[in-house]
Amino acid sequence: MKTHHSDGSISRRRFLGQVSATAALLMASRRGLALNPPPTRKLGIALVGLGRYSTYQLGPALRETKHCRLAGVVTGSPEKGRKWARKYAFPEANVFGYDTMGNLEGNPDIDIVYVVTPNSLHARHCIAAAKTGKHVICEKPMATSVADCDAIIAACRAAGVRLTVGYRLHYEPHHAEFARLARAKVFGPFMRMKGANGFDMDSSARARTDWRLDKELAGGGPLMDMGVYVVQAACMAKVEAPPVAVTAKFGPVARPAVFSEVEESIEWTMEFGDGAVANCRTTYSEEVSSFRAEGDHGWAQLEDPAFYYEEPLLTTSRGRAVFPKVNHQVAQLDGMALELIEGRPSIAPGEMGRRDIAIVEAIYAAAASHGRATVGA
Ligand code: NDP
Repeated sequence: MKTHHSDGSISRRRFLGQVSATAALLMASRRGLALNPPPTRKLGIALVGLGRYSTYQLGPALRETKHCRLAGVVTGSPEKGRKWARKYAFPEANVFGYDTMGNLEGNPDIDIVYVVTPNSLHARHCIAAAKTGKHVICEKPMATSVADCDAIIAACRAAGVRLTVGYRLHYEPHHAEFARLARAKVFGPFMRMKGANGFDMDSSARARTDWRLDKELAGGGPLMDMGVYVVQAACMAKVEAPPVAVTAKFGPVARPAVFSEVEESIEWTMEFGDGAVANCRTTYSEEVSSFRAEGDHGWAQLEDPAFYYEEPLLTTSRGRAVFPKVNHQVAQLDGMALELIEGRPSIAPGEMGRRDIAIVEAIYAAAASHGRATVGA
């Protein structure tokens, strides 16, 4: 039933409720304005790639989110897609294949496409998503080269859609507090940092079949997968400026049969313009997850598990900082949906993903040359 005003037009409020949230969001993000009135339904998300992260984290999280919901999927397996449609109660018409992603265009249920495929496929899938006029969330690492990051950013700009990176920790309260301490220079600027992140990729069936060990699909080893979190933490600690140069060294290969294509471990040092340094490492041989930053007036430490899905421990020279436990993926998804709805800039934009891949490229270049590499612009 339509609500007409005396002049015969549909009321503005009613009209905005009827236009697709996508169109309204697009207008809002182009203007940088908040949606007024806000969309009358949760934003619809389509997950691209129904692997472990989608299945065990993002899908379940989208049942708990307040501002977005699962409205469709893109998968190489139509059968799996239909199961997801039944499980998450969205129409089977919203199951797409990688080759038919273009059909997302104009779909009124879907506002955001969230790419959760192997690293080197992010660029292809994000660009295809942007061309449909949908906003894009790209999992970390954003891509396997700066050139691919640039192509994704250009496609999203050309389409006038928002691009964010699935950096969940920005929406996690302990990490947000760590970032605040850094920004406010509560302990003085952080000058000495140390961080590590890794897990044991054993020689099991998983290791033999995982694309993470395939250079072509993964782009690299633990640095691409786990090391980006350490790069992120160091950049969070030095918000004022990214690193200018890095030195790096590949670790020894204890299991050459498993690590024939990608590194088993790598350590690197990030050098910042003000003389600050961050000593970092990442590995597929050991479960490790921590980050410590020291200034002249104190320190802050994200303790094991600093980067996993659990609640991290944040201790500082002033004591322990305790925040409510959140589901990381719920916090991230709702955080990103609200940024869009309210027309705020994202705290994890595509440019940040690109910055991190520029650092990763420099780390690989330094390790390959047994020397030092400047971080490219
Ligand atoms: P999985 O291997 O479990 O799943 C990847 C999915 O991508 C597959 O199930 C498949 O879905 C799809 N796919 C499309 N093409 C290929 C291909 N050529 N080879 C393999 N899979 C393909 O990976 P994850 O879910 O663990 O990781 C996916 C992405 O998410 C990665 O970029 C990873 O870094 C990121 N991630 C982020 C996390 C975070 O905390 N932010 C945590 C874990 C992962 P389908 O069968 O539906 O086509």
